[in-house]
Amino acid sequence: MEEKLAKKMEEKLEAPTLNYEAYFSEKALGMKASEIRELLKLVESSDIISLAGGLPNPETFPYDVLEEILPRVIAEHGAQALQYGTTKGYTPLRLEIAELLRRRYGIPISKVDIMITSGSQQGLDLIGRVFINPGDIVVVEAPTYLAALQSFGYYDPKFVQIPLDDEGMRVDLLEEKLRALKAEGKKVKLVYTIPTFQNPGGVTMSKERRKRLLELASEYDFIIIEDGPYNELRYRGEEIPPIKRWDAEGRVLYLGTFSKILAPGLRVAWVAGEPHFIRKLEIAKQGIDLCTNVLGQVIAAEFLKGGHLERHIPRIRAFYKPKLETMLEALDKYMPEGVRWTKPEGGMFVWMTLPEGIDTKAMFEKAVSKGVAYVPGEAFFADRSVKNTLRLNFTYVEDEKIVEGIRRLAEVIKEEMKA
Ligand code: PMP
Repeated sequence: MEEKLAKKMEEKLEAPTLNYEAYFSEKALGMKASEIRELLKLVESSDIISLAGGLPNPETFPYDVLEEILPRVIAEHGAQALQYGTTKGYTPLRLEIAELLRRRYGIPISKVDIMITSGSQQGLDLIGRVFINPGDIVVVEAPTYLAALQSFGYYDPKFVQIPLDDEGMRVDLLEEKLRALKAEGKKVKLVYTIPTFQNPGGVTMSKERRKRLLELASEYDFIIIEDGPYNELRYRGEEIPPIKRWDAEGRVLYLGTFSKILAPGLRVAWVAGEPHFIRKLEIAKQGIDLCTNVLGQVIAAEFLKGGHLERHIPRIRAFYKPKLETMLEALDKYMPEGVRWTKPEGGMFVWMTLPEGIDTKAMFEKAVSKGVAYVPGEAFFADRSVKNTLRLNFTYVEDEKIVEGIRRLAEVIKEEMKA
């Protein structure tokens, strides 16, 4: 029944009766479907091993805890949880998050306000709305989170890319760029970074660079957008606090989310920052969704209040850690000389660089025909100039499949290197 309905819906899309393009706004006409999504459609419903995904593993969702919380939320907080809420978010949740930021990361919360958003993705869009004029310079890491490029891109900034190495963003190169721009009379407005277990790079910015970035923000007067969805997914190495911790001037907007530590389906996340900034973001949000899913917010608040997060994070880490190790071991074992990859200490992704001249988008169909999929790296670069990289996910598929997927990928790469 469902399949039939889905087919019918598709047929509907295929029979044009109007000149649809004529009605769209210029902005909408400029929106392009992601070719990556199109490519990834090839992967659906087959026995291809997909290392392309970006999803948390559903086995890490805290079903047991939620089975206890959900009925209680309805019984005890139903009238509020099922009602509209304030745009800024459910106050008990905002307080719990503030306490979490203070306790976990040492962020001085006396200077921050917190707004709940419908996923961090909405936070990124709101930041675009509130800060970006067409032509404003926005610094992004190269590579960076694809959907942040999409969110910011809608507001027509000029992207400036700063490469990553094993210690995250090359803050020294950023400094050079800032100096050069200043000499031309230009200024950077925003610097967007995912400092911890970067998506897609897997790397983590060192403490020294975090502090240096803050100094530069002060010296060159820009705002830092710190996106931290993977912070808690550390499987080895030493914790490094968020940049926000040392933010004396209120220049950092910190984005956090429950997507990777509770469940992405809740769509509950937050922006923490200087109250003046948060106020404007709140006004921008009013016209978008009035409020974030209140039921989800109450669930998240109860999850924190009951101390479940502290107990749950070790479970997630224990589940993902062997998967990362399995992937890194398989890469060591199967990949030919000349292929490089990052060695993350956490997160969900490994980033691979192939020898110059190999185009991973062109290679994608061959890989799929050999039964393995990845995300070609090109779309993670604002200028799409880099062709020989790809992203691998290690959180979703079973361990044996990780090994087999890497073995297949190595075969494809070897053939490509020969050609
Ligand atoms: N930022 C980064 C770097 C991400 O990887 C993601 C999710 N893949 C998000 C933001 C958005 O997360 P959510 O909207 O689920 O909170």
